[in-house]
Amino acid sequence: MKNRIIAIYPGTFDPVTYGHIDIIERASTLFNKVIVAIANNPAKIPLFTLKERTNMLRLSVEKFDNVEVDSFQGLLVKYAIKKSASVIIRGLRAVSDFEYEFQMSLTNRKIAPEITTIFMMPNEKYTYLNSSLVRELMHLGADVSDFVPDFVIETFKKKLKKFR
Ligand code: ADP
Repeated sequence: MKNRIIAIYPGTFDPVTYGHIDIIERASTLFNKVIVAIANNPAKIPLFTLKERTNMLRLSVEKFDNVEVDSFQGLLVKYAIKKSASVIIRGLRAVSDFEYEFQMSLTNRKIAPEITTIFMMPNEKYTYLNSSLVRELMHLGADVSDFVPDFVIETFKKKLKKFR
């Protein structure tokens, strides 16, 4: 079909937060299909395995019928082309995100001019939220129920039990 716009929302999602879900929801109303693509980067050791991150994201997006979850390795734009996507979505929380995102999006445009990066801002209550803050708070035993869905907390608790 002509004008069917497929968008990729890439990230580490270690773990998914309400900030990510906010962006996914906004994107799902704008594009015909949104693929949430988990970066499976062998050089990075995430807290949650790819399988755990995939399961948590699948549960997060099950209410959106045009959103799917996948993973990729290597060059993002190559993956986007393979998926026939013309848009990459990134979230912008604060000015501090800008420099890195600016560099990435111009680099991606240089490699694949047919793909456009679009930035979206979450609800302001999520602008300070990121996955590493959530990981740290969970390790310290703080209540993170305002930041992540319950199944993220459950997955973390199961993990802790395994290592104890
Ligand atoms: P990365 O490792 O690529 O930064 P993340 O999993 O941290 O991946 O985030 C994926 C995308 O979601 C990035 O564009 C990031 O800016 C955005 N993002 C992360 N947290 C939030 C949030 N609280 N609100 C809006 N966007 C966010």
